[in-house]
Amino acid sequence: MQRYETDVIIIGGGATGTGIARDCALRGIKAVLVEKDDLASGTTGRNHGLLHSGARYAVKDIQSASECIDENKILKKIARHCIEDTGGLFVTLPEDDQEYHFELIRRCEEAGIKCKKISVKEALRIEPNLNPEIIHALTVPDGTIDPFRLAASNILDAVERGGTLFTHTIVTDFIRNQDTIKGICFRNRLTKETFEIYGKVVVNASGVWGQKICEQAGIELKMFPSKGSMVIIDYRINNVVVNRCRKPSDGDIIVPGDTVSLIGTTSKKISYEKIDEAVVDDDEVEILLKDGEKLIPNVSKTRVLRAYCGVRPLVAISNEMDGRDISRGIVLVDHEQRDGAKGFISIAGGKLMTYRLMAEMATDLICEKLNINKFCTTHDIPLPGSEKKTSEHKRIKHFSGIPKSIVGSTQFRHGERVHRILKKDKKSYGLICECEMVTAGEVDYAIKNLFVKDIIDLRRRTRVGMGPCQGALCAYRAAGQIVQHEVADGEDASKMMIDFFEERWKGIKPILWGDALREMEFTYWIYQGLFGLGNLISGTKGSGKGVETLEEIDQF
Ligand SMILES: Cc1cc2nc3c(=O)[nH]c(=O)nc-3n(C[C@H](O)[C@H](O)[C@H](O)COP(=O)(O)OP(=O)(O)OC[C@H]3O[C@@H](n4cnc5c(N)ncnc54)[C@H](O)[C@@H]3O)c2cc1C
Repeated sequence: MQRYETDVIIIGGGATGTGIARDCALRGIKAVLVEKDDLASGTTGRNHGLLHSGARYAVKDIQSASECIDENKILKKIARHCIEDTGGLFVTLPEDDQEYHFELIRRCEEAGIKCKKISVKEALRIEPNLNPEIIHALTVPDGTIDPFRLAASNILDAVERGGTLFTHTIVTDFIRNQDTIKGICFRNRLTKETFEIYGKVVVNASGVWGQKICEQAGIELKMFPSKGSMVIIDYRINNVVVNRCRKPSDGDIIVPGDTVSLIGTTSKKISYEKIDEAVVDDDEVEILLKDGEKLIPNVSKTRVLRAYCGVRPLVAISNEMDGRDISRGIVLVDHEQRDGAKGFISIAGGKLMTYRLMAEMATDLICEKLNINKFCTTHDIPLPGSEKKTSEHKRIKHFSGIPKSIVGSTQFRHGERVHRILKKDKKSYGLICECEMVTAGEVDYAIKNLFVKDIIDLRRRTRVGMGPCQGALCAYRAAGQIVQHEVADGEDASKMMIDFFEERWKGIKPILWGDALREMEFTYWIYQGLFGLGNLISGTKGSGKGVETLEEIDQF
């Protein structure tokens, strides 16, 4: 068993955990982050990617609304390349309660959210695909945020400043000495190696899995998991975020994202035992499409690409079991104060877009425990890729000879790091994924710099296989790149393709009709008919995806 020592151990590689890793690095604190799967593979990679203005919460939860607008402004500054400043609309349909529209205006004013009433004609000019029957419209400073880019940029910065990351490693046990948590044991799911790591503070940033982590530490933290489902349609039917102006409910948001749009969301309480098996139900797809169509009638003319769901990490603040204390806000627990477990803290709740604030709160507490007097600077220092923008003139000159569309999409995903990705030699801008314009150069950069261990990780870093073909035409090319870069040999890379399609399949299964069914059949012909992929068995050392839980590890 390998043994490490550090100041801080962070469990969970979602937005919150990676944000804490970055904050620690910026304050000069040595930290190690341990993630059981890949970066953003939990709830961080399973939401709308809405950069809330706060308006959605203004009527019911003014505190969350104020946090959102403050963070909205900060993230637009420090995470420019992860954000599209699309703006947002709140529209009222004839069947909606009109009073809500006026109340929202009043509450946004109270929370400091810029909210402007505009005419229906103006709303249709901004968003021509909107339902022309709407009776009121408001503009708000909503935007979109790419969670994969955000988590990757945070950890990239942390690692470049001396932090350490272990992905595909699962916490198996806690090391305790009487009332003090001294560290954790963890296991690499790909290589099966085991490790012990000792730290002065252990941070539980494992989202909805926080309850399980606390159980492992012998502490109770009750989560109330609430599942939300979303569907993605095959082209971008709106350019601004469209919200239905009513009490938050199912199917009332349509968010544009890169080349597609997504409709969200539902809300269903599920039992804690089911959090790893949550799937999209047929009735949820039906509701989302039906309500989405009310906002943008063109929804009915699109092809549904996939459906997916995430589980909200809602926390009960005290140990009471009746659920009265469920909080939808940020919950920071000092387990020394609450449970007498020294050196252990949990942070959960909040939102993707309040991740930085959550990280700041957790790192402030870490500093207090380590007796360090350093202030947070994450609100000021841009993430890698979001540094000062090169002028358009300089960029065109620098990349002359490379197709503009390739420069544009690479820059869109990696911001100023485009300069480290695109080289003049033609091979580097050969396309691997046509739907998303991902080049061999971008794949090369991701494998070397962004902690890629398989094709699914590569998808999260580059969007390979996320477009309309859902991997049919690019998965084998991505597998080829994985072999060329010696991440895996040919056999393991083939098995990684199985894992990649199994994972894509989960999202396609709930919407398998019409063109999606035809597309899937086509993919099947290529990968089974031509490559005979079904004859291999997945879950090898290359992917390790066959081993999911602690129980499975025990059996392995
Ligand atoms: C349907 C839905 C829609 C949403 N929409 C939005 C939105 O539009 N905008 C917004 O701001 N917020 C949104 N949210 C909320 C947001 O997604 C979450 O609050 C946020 O992503 C939580 O991030 P996290 O890092 O705390 O948790 P997670 O992203 O879940 O990260 C926890 C990590 O811990 C890891 N982990 C768990 N157990 C272990 C272990 N034993 N060892 C090692 N690692 C472990 C997991 O693999 C996971 O990667 C939405 C949520 C849902 C469910």
